[in-house]
Amino acid sequence: MAKTENGPVLFDIDKCKGCELCVFYCPRKCLSISAGFNSAGNKFAVLSAPEGCNSCGICYLMCPDYAVKIMVADGQSEKHSGG
Ligand code: SF4
Ligand code: SF4
Repeated sequence: MAKTENGPVLFDIDKCKGCELCVFYCPRKCLSISAGFNSAGNKFAVLSAPEGCNSCGICYLMCPDYAVKIMVADGQSEKHSGG
């Protein structure tokens, strides 16, 4: 599967409040929380193990803040977008 430069999952980090729902529910444990902070002063989710991600979309479904996008294989268009 082709992926975007940073993997198939993109976060709008300034929408993320660091609640960790996506991190907890990722079945492949690909996500983690940043060490740094976004513009709102929150830690945010990052795709820390992109090689394990299969674009299942669970992180997208779990996010209450529409901060996750799942990209299709061409890396250009969105498969799931809450934004
Ligand atoms: S798309 Fe699925 S495997 Fe990839 S980070 Fe999200 S929950 Fe994990
Ligand atoms: S579920 Fe959404 S708001 Fe919560 S950490 Fe993940 S991306 Fe951020």
